[in-house]
Amino acid sequence: MLKKIIPIILLGVFLIADFGYSQELQTPSNEEDIKAALTGGVPMGRWKEGLLYEGVRPMPWLKSAANWFPGTEEVQPNEMRITFMGTAPNIRPGQMNTSIYVELGNGDNFVFDMGEGAVANYVAARVSLNQIKHVFITHLHVDHFGSLPYLWMFGTWAGGWHEPLTIHGPSGRTPEYGTKTMVEGMKMMLGWHRDAFSVFPVGKGWDIQVNEFDFRDNGGVVYEKNGVKVIHWQRSHAKDGASGYRLDWNGMSMVWTGDGRPSELDIKYAKGVDLYITELQPEVVEINAGVQGVPPFLARYTIDTHHTPAYAAGYLANQIQPRLFMTTHMNFDPFLNEETVAEVREHWKGPFHFGAPDGIVVNMTKDAVWVREGILPDFPNSRAPQMNFDNGQLVVPHPPKSREEIQEPFVREQQIDPEKYYPAGYMPHLLEEWPVEGDLVVPMDQLPDNLKASMGAHWRLKKKNQKILEEQAKEESDK
Ligand SMILES: [Zn+2]
Ligand SMILES: [Zn+2]
Repeated sequence: MLKKIIPIILLGVFLIADFGYSQELQTPSNEEDIKAALTGGVPMGRWKEGLLYEGVRPMPWLKSAANWFPGTEEVQPNEMRITFMGTAPNIRPGQMNTSIYVELGNGDNFVFDMGEGAVANYVAARVSLNQIKHVFITHLHVDHFGSLPYLWMFGTWAGGWHEPLTIHGPSGRTPEYGTKTMVEGMKMMLGWHRDAFSVFPVGKGWDIQVNEFDFRDNGGVVYEKNGVKVIHWQRSHAKDGASGYRLDWNGMSMVWTGDGRPSELDIKYAKGVDLYITELQPEVVEINAGVQGVPPFLARYTIDTHHTPAYAAGYLANQIQPRLFMTTHMNFDPFLNEETVAEVREHWKGPFHFGAPDGIVVNMTKDAVWVREGILPDFPNSRAPQMNFDNGQLVVPHPPKSREEIQEPFVREQQIDPEKYYPAGYMPHLLEEWPVEGDLVVPMDQLPDNLKASMGAHWRLKKKNQKILEEQAKEESDK
């Protein structure tokens, strides 16, 4: 009996002793063994597996190298972050038309195309709508600008009071087909909405600007400020007035071609770009007819008059030689994906990723680039409006109109007396009139901490990064 109990007691003592997870010290393996294990499979001094490429690797500041969770990572001073907010010509929950968001380390950001529904992905990616001030439209197919009315109206409501939205876009062959006319038409369409929202603070929000450039002016500069330069060139997309864009900043560049047939102009203006993004269509018109019900002749005709076949996309990439090639404005479907890669690979052997489905994010510095799936929630809430607190004040402009000016009294008088529906003893102080006379000006030290923190987040990041960039520039010039 005792013989059996003693080992059990000893085992118990051993288990209790081990409960702290302390490990007994062991004799180290010899250096040769350690070296063999830690460098095994690294014959060239670095791991080389599959089709990994030089410079394609995650950055150390990414919270997860596998996925991007919006709101968890700051854009670094020397970084360009590109997010695909809409990735197809069609609209479906995971692909909301076409839109590409570009954020720079200096705090600037730019939108390229703003297709219908894409605005939902901006909200999900924690972009405040009042942060969007420059939208570059490649052409006036509605899958590239359909979200503008919502962005303009609700971006103004949500704090877009101090800087107007600027729409950059090509002219048409005649004025009626230019970007200016589209914006004039949008103003007319939004007449009721704009007047209705004039009971809110709108400030400069209603002063929408249009920068319409001559579509024929190939290589012309559309935008140049803070070291950022955007140029454009013509695309062959059935009708005059389709353009591609290239953005250069801080020794890095990206191209979004918009839609169009493969062209020598693309090679000329995109040559040597870091990130080259174009659209494509794989050669599966008959299979697609079975899946989507599009008659093959209609698909074939649409591609051959408007779009870039996947083979041509690979051909262009090989001519342009970017650090990373991406394609978007494409259906992300299992029956298409392998085919698409195979067709692109006919000519392009370098780094390639899909700019689809929505939420794909690219982090890029001068020596590294990394692509991840962004996790966009289905039911996001808006990020707080982002304010510039350089003056140490929150300024809320006075609404240009009151309800009395835009509504007859009759229907207001029919409103039910709130005493009838609020519970006994509970009666909120209703704000039926705007509470102040002129502009409301709140010094920052009188703002509640949560508002100061949430509304000033981007302003603080921009100041921090700009200081680092200035110091770097000074160091460069001192050398
Ligand atoms: Zn399109
Ligand atoms: Zn188009």
